[in-house]
Amino acid sequence: MSLDALYQEIILDHFKSPRNFGKLDGPATGVHHENPSCGDQLDLQVVIDEQDRIGKIKFYGRGCAISQSSASMMTELVKGKTVAETRDAIASFKHMLTGEGEAKIELGDLEALSGVKQFPVRVKCATLAWKALESCLE
Ligand code: ZN
Repeated sequence: MSLDALYQEIILDHFKSPRNFGKLDGPATGVHHENPSCGDQLDLQVVIDEQDRIGKIKFYGRGCAISQSSASMMTELVKGKTVAETRDAIASFKHMLTGEGEAKIELGDLEALSGVKQFPVRVKCATLAWKALESCLE
C-alpha cells in the first residue's frame, strides 16, 4: 500500500468511526467553532483534572472528512496529556500544515493530514479542532 493510500485509509477510518465523539456530562470548558468556507461545525469540550492533564475531551460536529478526522485524531493524541504537552501538540500540528513555528512532538496518525498543506483552503478544515482546543486552554 502506498503512503497516500495508507493516509487516506486512516482519515476515512476516523471520519466513519470518530473517537471521543459526543458530549460530556457535567461541567466542562466548551467552545463552538465553525469553518464557513467549507461548512464544518465543531463543538469541543474539555475537562482539565487536578494534575493539569486533559482528563476528558469530546467533540461533536459535522463537516468534511478532513475536519472530522482531524478532531478525532486530536482528541486521541491529547487525552491524558498535560496542558503544556497539549500546547506542544498544537504547535507541532500547526507547524506541519503551515510551516510556522516548530515541531515539538511526534504526531503519529495525524501525519496522515500532512498532505493537506498543499491545499490552503483545506488547511482551515484540518486546523478547526486545534483552534477550538487552543481556545479551551485559554
Ligand atoms: Zn472542511
